[in-house]
Amino acid sequence: MMLAASTCAANLAKKLAATGITDTEVLSAVTNTPRELFLDGALTHKAYENTALPIGQGQTISQPYIVAKMTELLKQSAPKTVLEIGTGSGYQAAILAQLFPTLCTIERIKSLQIQARQRLKRLDLHNVSFKYGDGWKGWSNRAPFDGIMVTAAAETIPQALLEQLSDGGVLIIPVGEANQQLLKITRQGDKYHSQKVEAVKFVPLVNGDLA
Ligand code: SAH
Repeated sequence: MMLAASTCAANLAKKLAATGITDTEVLSAVTNTPRELFLDGALTHKAYENTALPIGQGQTISQPYIVAKMTELLKQSAPKTVLEIGTGSGYQAAILAQLFPTLCTIERIKSLQIQARQRLKRLDLHNVSFKYGDGWKGWSNRAPFDGIMVTAAAETIPQALLEQLSDGGVLIIPVGEANQQLLKITRQGDKYHSQKVEAVKFVPLVNGDLA
């Protein structure tokens, strides 16, 4: 299977455009990515709804709007090397891999990681490196990253991720527990500038042991 536009995915992209996503390359990536491939058979009829859905192990594939929004925010700084924390289904990774030259992605649940790797291979996306590990620690021997996207909510901002940003690099991260805020943090030398984007709802970023 290759990446190809489908009517359903094109309709989803139209919905996202109507909710404020303006970057045409991000919208094209949504149009070209078969979201049903990232879901369990029983849920494929919901694949092009603008909602988060369960992917097993208590985890979720993020809402398409938030996938597109976070990607758009990251793309503003034109990163070459990107790190994603929380591979999950692999859908967000598939979008990122179409827009940026090099993607590294970390997942702490092995079974999800194995499935995600197979899906990206099937879509002929080969610029992605997968790591089974704890995303709180980042990926030090692949750092620095021009962009880091965390797709689970952290109680606090992981220090390792700040350190692994290149100068001018951008970290997109949901922070908080019951009330979460999406933050865009930009590194300038040893200084970090934080900007609130909007309220969000993500599964928690687990700190510590692997599943
Ligand atoms: N980007 C994913 C969203 C998955 S939900 C997608 O497009 O489907 C968040 C994911 O983060 C879950 O799969 C969860 O297992 C993973 N996760 C949570 N804490 C983590 C950690 N400390 N390190 C790596 N992955 C983590």
